[in-house]
Amino acid sequence: MVFHLLRQNDAFLRSFGEAITYLKANLFTCAECGNISNSDPCPICKDQMRDRHTLCVVESIDDLVSFEQAGIYGGLYHVLGARVSPLDDQELSDSDIEFFLNHIKNLRAAEVIIATNPRMEGDLTYFTLLDILKDRLRDKIEKGELKVSRLAFGLPVGGSIEFADRLTLHTALESRTNAARL
Ligand SMILES: [Zn+2]
Repeated sequence: MVFHLLRQNDAFLRSFGEAITYLKANLFTCAECGNISNSDPCPICKDQMRDRHTLCVVESIDDLVSFEQAGIYGGLYHVLGARVSPLDDQELSDSDIEFFLNHIKNLRAAEVIIATNPRMEGDLTYFTLLDILKDRLRDKIEKGELKVSRLAFGLPVGGSIEFADRLTLHTALESRTNAARL
């Protein structure tokens, strides 16, 4: 990257430097879903054409971008920005959990698709979210007002959503299963 920059002229380097300087100043974290974009709420949350009662929970913005680039999903997202990983001493904080539950309530979501990565940390995050949903929204799940599903194992175990191809993502999304059948 440095060698590429050294080949550019001074004007380009000046404007590139300015763009980097203002990069953070022009980016906002969406108060509804946790996505990062140049507006709050983000363009996805503002889009009234999307299915506003289906919420796809992802670990990171990279995963959200992969779904969007594949063009296979028309609902909204919830970006956890965190995961459960005992080896790295990471877990979901109380504020992560409240942010997630409030998003479900505010949207009156009919389905939550848990799209964590198919590896150990993703599994642990999935089971943690499932326990929270069963505990806090048991009524809605029992009445059939809230469906909780999970991506099927169409994704390579040990891989990541970020690097999955469109077909694999599509298959995994289509074959999701009902996770919280009580
Ligand atoms: Zn958003």
